[in-house]
Amino acid sequence: MDKKIVQAVLERSKGLCEVCYAPGAELHHIIYGKGKRKQHETVESVALLCWDCHRGTYGVHGREGRELDLELKRKLQHEYWKQGYSWESIREMMGGKLY
Ligand SMILES: [Zn+2]
Ligand SMILES: [Zn+2]
Repeated sequence: MDKKIVQAVLERSKGLCEVCYAPGAELHHIIYGKGKRKQHETVESVALLCWDCHRGTYGVHGREGRELDLELKRKLQHEYWKQGYSWESIREMMGGKLY
């Protein structure tokens, strides 16, 4: 992962999980897979999470994590929208679809 992105995410989160504010443990790519990670990697698309919010049962990668995963994706596309991107570019940045 780009060092500047890591640095910016750690500063934004102050080292805390960006979902529950427990001490952060792992960086998560809100948009992942599809082999286009680099292209979609922005400061906004990476979140610092605690282990539970990342890999626990209700964590983004967990068995019951679909809701949190969607929530992070919706927040991300809203953030891009606030920054003034068109929905067409946002769709592209979200990996080809909107959430
Ligand atoms: Zn958490
Ligand atoms: Zn992850």
